[in-house]
Amino acid sequence: MIKERIAEIRSTLPEGVTLVCVTKFHPVERLMEAYEAGERDFGESRVQELVRKYEEMPKDIRWHFIGHLQTNKIRQIVPFVHLIQGVDSLHLLEEISKEAHKIGKVVNVLIEFHVAEELTKSGFSPEDADSLQEIIDLNHAPAFLREYPGVNIIGVMGMASNTDDLSRIRQDFEQLASLFRYLFPRGGVLSMGMSGDFPLAIQAGANMIRVGSLIFGERE
Ligand SMILES: *Cc1c(COP(=O)(O)O)cnc(C)c1O
Repeated sequence: MIKERIAEIRSTLPEGVTLVCVTKFHPVERLMEAYEAGERDFGESRVQELVRKYEEMPKDIRWHFIGHLQTNKIRQIVPFVHLIQGVDSLHLLEEISKEAHKIGKVVNVLIEFHVAEELTKSGFSPEDADSLQEIIDLNHAPAFLREYPGVNIIGVMGMASNTDDLSRIRQDFEQLASLFRYLFPRGGVLSMGMSGDFPLAIQAGANMIRVGSLIFGERE
């Protein structure tokens, strides 16, 4: 069943779009079905679960952290995480960089922007784009010049409003895409789109989507 659902989703994806299987609230046995079907990118939003699943599952999986990361938990995931999606403050960026630098790693991160109508979602405001641009440009300089040497800032992540209004969802994705093009003119990762809206995200230019319930069923 999981295998068929993945095949169905994949049949709609243009080349170059990475599917991240979102595992929150789903047990390892179900995740292994996705693994057996060939999936290698998995995303989890809770640190404890991410660590446990990392330990129990094959080591060729690329683990994405997709939630709001608390600074006191960074240390637990830095040694193995492939991509931290959703850096929503400079403080968090700095702390990730410090923890990674300490163990001689450079961790890939995405900048999270808040464009949705809900006030509860986290992320930078689009108005922060100019100050972020300086930080990102500096981050692409040689390591010894970097302000945050423990991170590679490689793209943008975001969510659309939780609404049935398709034009609002399109507008949110377009805004994320234009922030991405502004900050990463030479390309990078644009992570947007979930079970309910990923086709619209892809139309707007997403090259990474994060899909949970459409693959694994409703969360338990
Ligand atoms: C849960 C979650 C997803 C996946 O949501 P589904 O609707 O189950 O596909 C994607 N991104 C983030 C940040 C999430 O927390």
